[in-house]
Amino acid sequence: MARILITNGTIVSPSGRYASDVFIDGETIQAIFQPGQAASLGIVADKVIDATGKYVIPGGVDVHTHMELPMGPIEATDTFETGSNAAAWGGITTIVDMALQRKGENIQDGLAAWHQKAAGNCSIDYAFHQIMGDIHDQSLKDMTYLVEHEGVTSFKLFMAYPDTYYSDDGQILRAMQEASNNGAVIMMHAENGMAIDVLIQQHLARGETDPVFHSISRPSLLEGEATHRAIVLSQVAGNVPLYIVHMSASEALNEVARAQHEGLNVFAETCPQYLYLTLEEHLSQPDFEGAKFVCSPPIRSRHDHHHHQSDLWKGLRMNELAVVSTDHCPFCFKDQKTLGRNDFSKIPNGLPGVEHRMELIYQGVVLGELSLERWVETCCTTPARMFGMYPKKGIIAPGADADIVVWDPHQKTTIGINGKHHMNTDYSAFEGTVIDGKVDTVLSRGMVVVENDTFTGRKGHGKYVKRDLCQYLH
Ligand SMILES: [Zn+2]
Repeated sequence: MARILITNGTIVSPSGRYASDVFIDGETIQAIFQPGQAASLGIVADKVIDATGKYVIPGGVDVHTHMELPMGPIEATDTFETGSNAAAWGGITTIVDMALQRKGENIQDGLAAWHQKAAGNCSIDYAFHQIMGDIHDQSLKDMTYLVEHEGVTSFKLFMAYPDTYYSDDGQILRAMQEASNNGAVIMMHAENGMAIDVLIQQHLARGETDPVFHSISRPSLLEGEATHRAIVLSQVAGNVPLYIVHMSASEALNEVARAQHEGLNVFAETCPQYLYLTLEEHLSQPDFEGAKFVCSPPIRSRHDHHHHQSDLWKGLRMNELAVVSTDHCPFCFKDQKTLGRNDFSKIPNGLPGVEHRMELIYQGVVLGELSLERWVETCCTTPARMFGMYPKKGIIAPGADADIVVWDPHQKTTIGINGKHHMNTDYSAFEGTVIDGKVDTVLSRGMVVVENDTFTGRKGHGKYVKRDLCQYLH
């Protein structure tokens, strides 16, 4: 493996920015040098990356992806190979994907299946959360086994989707009680699925079948209610760490902020789609084009009594939202999204996104919504700490994995099928969006995987990361 010197750049970390050079030996960051210090010490590198005028940041960590997720008769279109390559293009060097347990399935089998999908196929490092879709005595035992032996320390439950992954309050409480013993984080899809299903049927009965009714049938009040209920259950279980995934609504954010104020171990993430897309501009597009933006929780209206997007940006600034993830769950428009042409409830839920999180959140820096340091914190450092991968991941420091992005603030990126797009979908949810910045060079454990607008990574370079417990609490 090579010795690489990244020189003349500005390192950005959550605590500030400073001019320094990064020296990499093999897979690891060996030293941080004052500008010019490496030469005076006689350090010789095999490769020098000139980062003049550029930012040098930790590789992005996306803790919410769904590669190859089966959904009814179809599957999310990115494999671990195509999805990890697209992630690398976007400055992501670690993904945490959601291994699946469905009703009637065994958790250990679900995890084994996910290892099989990913092993030997990823160009960047990967880890797993475990979805628990069937909570009973055995799955609770398996949960603790995964924490203790498999490096899986977080478990996703669903208050939505009564037909598939849904857990009732009793099951949720039991999983949380188990987590209070084994130290795991409970991740929650917080929407009141029972009430939403009633609303869906009522809309369909009235002939309201267009994609926009996907959002109208999932009101933000029911995300707020479920978030509140999850928080109370986690409190009853003994202040178990609770992480609300893909938050879209002000009501939910307010519940999380209040819980944090009361000293509860409650965390949350949001995703770029909730910060930028709207019911009016996207979900309401004619000719079924709105289906391209169907995900759950849904894209919200700009005319609700809360202004969700400005509240979510505020939450990111204030650390009420600790993390930005993507919930990358890609489906093609042709033959997949179109399954719901006459019934919005049959549109597969999910958006392609893993490639564009660093870009879209950087645009928030340009827009004045958050600081450069906070961009790095929410996209790189905190996700690594939240899910037990720090300080190997999420920081530029001696001893850390050499997962590094060189970011050029002077270039632009045009996102979309007609621009930058490497995910395996036939559309982009951000077609034509122009970002005031660009992924310049990406390193995964010392290997250059993107450089000069070329993918130089290798299938199978990415390794499985066994995770520790949440490092905010342990
Ligand atoms: Zn998800």
